Amino acid sequence: MSNVQLPDALLINGERRESGSGGTIELVDPATETPLCTLPAAGRKEVDEALGAARAAFDGSGWDNINPTKRREALFALARLIREHADEIAEIEARNVGKPIGDARWEINAGARCFEYYAGGISRFGGETIPVSSDGFDFTVRVPVGVVAAIVPWNFPFLMACWKVAPALATGNAVLLKPASLTPLSALRMGELAWEAGVPEGILQVIAGPGSQIGDYLVSHREINKIAFTGETGTGARILKQAADDIKRVSLELGGKSANVVFADADIEAAARQSPMGVFANTGQDCCARSRVLIERSAYDDFRDAFVAATKEIVVGEPLDESTMIGPMVSRGQRETVEGYINLAKDEGARVLCGADRPRDKGFYLSPTVIDGVGNDARVNQEEIFGPVVSLIPFDDEAEAVRLANATPYGLSGSLWTKDVSRALRLARSLRSGVLGVNTVSSVFQEAPFGGFKQSGFGRDLGMEAMKLYTELKNVFIKL
Ligand code: NAD
Repeated sequence: MSNVQLPDALLINGERRESGSGGTIELVDPATETPLCTLPAAGRKEVDEALGAARAAFDGSGWDNINPTKRREALFALARLIREHADEIAEIEARNVGKPIGDARWEINAGARCFEYYAGGISRFGGETIPVSSDGFDFTVRVPVGVVAAIVPWNFPFLMACWKVAPALATGNAVLLKPASLTPLSALRMGELAWEAGVPEGILQVIAGPGSQIGDYLVSHREINKIAFTGETGTGARILKQAADDIKRVSLELGGKSANVVFADADIEAAARQSPMGVFANTGQDCCARSRVLIERSAYDDFRDAFVAATKEIVVGEPLDESTMIGPMVSRGQRETVEGYINLAKDEGARVLCGADRPRDKGFYLSPTVIDGVGNDARVNQEEIFGPVVSLIPFDDEAEAVRLANATPYGLSGSLWTKDVSRALRLARSLRSGVLGVNTVSSVFQEAPFGGFKQSGFGRDLGMEAMKLYTELKNVFIKL
């Protein structure tokens, strides 16, 4: 049995709270369906208290001091602590989410790197001088937005939290972090380490609680200046409406239905070998999942056969087993939703090429599932399934490929496989997505901006772009 201690308290105003006015959250191990642990849930009382403490800390702690040394040192110290505790946090994440331990370890270290990146970015992020038409000196400065609510989903709990907390803290804000109630553990551990690293107590606080219970109250709270949200498009739309009342700043990283476009001139063998993990990684619970593969008709049969063969080689297993490539789904409910989509696909005329079964008696497992025979307009090709299901769709020429790829409400990610450089450059512009990988299913890097077009949201996480999200731009003119 593991010695890892699972977090069991909310982190409010420098205190660990072992009970909350919102009742409790009962977590279940997705690999065994047995109880994992019980946590306090925050209610309105804790939200009020945390936001009061955040405001006081923002106004009085000097965290946004013009000399950023204290911030930089605290964030580098936090990165070091995350690395030192990487195995422990990875295990917490694997047991809570059902994520393969190797993936979890990678994500925790990527989280540490995110803090390092923004700690270093502090001294490279500033304003400019502007030659205005007057006798004086004009310059811009970036100042923190104030109190930030960071609301994150359950699929990459630790990493999504880092993507928001690190740039928000680096730019001098106070942050209240709310992880998803299915997966709050790693974010709570991050909060504990942040305090240990010297982040002032009110400057980072972490509460857990169902969005249905405290979401609306939190989002409409007057003390919040900015909401940084990652989650479903429907939740994002609701948050945007509520934020309108007092013009809160909002950035939204939402759902996706990304296309993986394969031309006949590509290295078909490489495309077919790599593409399955472009959708099935994290058991398909990935906003970037390339869940529609569009294939030029002349290469369709060869690609399909090789893709299905590569899919069958994916090792589905226990999260803590190092050889596991994909684990269970996060919850019983999420698996039922995805199975509902598989049944819908069959009703819509789909052919199941592999998967669609539960490979284990216990745990929320679902085999990687490949379907074809349904058009791009079908619901399964338009709605985000958020599970291990991919649909193969043929196309006849470049124009049709672009039209199909763009014909969903989303625009987050995608891939393009071709050896024709001119075509790659043409499509890099015409495919309507925030990120695109050419001849690869990777496209997310700490140093580069990440975010969506259309209903996949707006604002960019990662890279230096993210620091802009958490600052106001002020112009100063000195009359000479
Ligand atoms: P979700 O929208 O249900 O929940 C996300 C977070 O919002 C959770 O913390 C939840 O408690 C909270 N929440 C729910 N209702 C709320 C409300 N009314 N007000 C305030 N907060 C509320 O999303 P999820 O099911 O946790 O995550 C899956 C979704 O996230 C998918 O759609 C996926 O594509 C998306 N996602 C997007 C990205 C991206 O970067 N674009 C990354 C990861 C996940």
